[in-house]
Amino acid sequence: MAVSIDLANSRPTPSAAALAGQAAANAASVQAGAEKPSLIGLSREGLGAALAAVGVPEKQLRMRTQQLWHWLYVRGVSDFSQMANVAKDLRQKLADAYSIARPEIVTEQISVDGTRKWVLRFPAKGAARPVEIETVYIPEEGRGTLCVSSQVGCTLTCTFCHTGTQRLVRNLTPDEIVGQILIARDRLGDFPDAATPAGAIVPSEGRLVTNVVMMGMGEPLYNFDSVKEALAVASDGEGLSLSKRRITLSTSGVVPMIGKAGEEMGVMLAISLHAVRDELRDELVPINRKYPLAELLDACRAYPGLSNAKRITFEYVMLKGVNDSLADAKELVRILRGIPAKINLIPFNPWPGSRYECSDWDQIERFADYVNQAGYASPIRTPRGRDIFAACGQLKSESERMRKKERTELEASRISELAAG
Ligand code: SAH
Ligand code: SF4
Repeated sequence: MAVSIDLANSRPTPSAAALAGQAAANAASVQAGAEKPSLIGLSREGLGAALAAVGVPEKQLRMRTQQLWHWLYVRGVSDFSQMANVAKDLRQKLADAYSIARPEIVTEQISVDGTRKWVLRFPAKGAARPVEIETVYIPEEGRGTLCVSSQVGCTLTCTFCHTGTQRLVRNLTPDEIVGQILIARDRLGDFPDAATPAGAIVPSEGRLVTNVVMMGMGEPLYNFDSVKEALAVASDGEGLSLSKRRITLSTSGVVPMIGKAGEEMGVMLAISLHAVRDELRDELVPINRKYPLAELLDACRAYPGLSNAKRITFEYVMLKGVNDSLADAKELVRILRGIPAKINLIPFNPWPGSRYECSDWDQIERFADYVNQAGYASPIRTPRGRDIFAACGQLKSESERMRKKERTELEASRISELAAG
């Protein structure tokens, strides 16, 4: 059974209650700041430019940028008034011009297994309507993984994925991607409290969000620039401080962008493989028709920095009678030869209307054993948060679909970007 928290009425623990107050304050400031540009997700240069634009003198820019960075990403404040060491008149100027408000939390659900799912609403941007997305936190022994969305919906239509049934509404912006990490840390009490002296760096040990995976809604390589900017902020060692070794980007196989992601983002790579023959992969992961297996695997072989210590994760969803035979396992081992790899077997998570069944557990274990004996780590991903529809591939928001014309325009611009890249 899932627990749904009513943010206004629940009193689970004193700290959660305090956080609920913070969330209410955030929601109010979202409304107040909806039209103002957000400072969240900007690079240091971007932040410096925003400060200059409200009149901060050139010689103070570096110091002020550093101060703001610290308040935003070490202390996690969501209101300029909390920035104690910033002069009051500057705080006012910043508040007049910009927003640092969090997205609104529409619902927060907690699974029996401790997984949390937030539905977040981002305010309207210009002509675009407000949108909703989902972010999931998965606590495990010794670590906690945040599954972050990159798009509202997805242009791809993988047949086993719930998100794939929701058309693309729009790409998320860097502030919306970083905002998901900030919300999770707010709600988990994962920012140091006000007693922590200014200037202190949040220790990278003992934190609840230790890993980020770009495995929520959407295809992150179709929103390359925003994901890159957001991950640069997330991995900044004087801020959110998530090491690039603890950030994983999962792609369905946007081949032209894979090498670029390795060079410019430098995070860990996961590939949604799911089939070992083009005929089946064309059906399950339709982007395969454009970038078939041979090209995908070549791009993987060329991924910068690969070694036994830095392997690619190949995700393989276990679909009963479809891709789970020992012949498939054998072919998998053959095609991955020479690539430092780990194979993550994902039991299929059903959703209303899905046409597949999850493989039998015995078959998943037989498959895993074969792959393991061939020398690959082959963990079976324990399904988490199924009761709250938070498991892999179950995410889908109710955001209004993009009008056909808007979508066609966006896709056309994406294709020309890809061609240029
Ligand atoms: N669009 C990206 C990242 C999001 S999906 C991608 O496709 O890689 C995150 C992972 O969940 C992918 O490996 C995806 O194939 C897998 N997945 C999707 N639907 C699933 C389902 N119903 N059950 C199990 N895994 C699923
Ligand atoms: Fe999109 Fe990934 Fe789902 Fe495929 S698996 S539809 S790429 S989110």
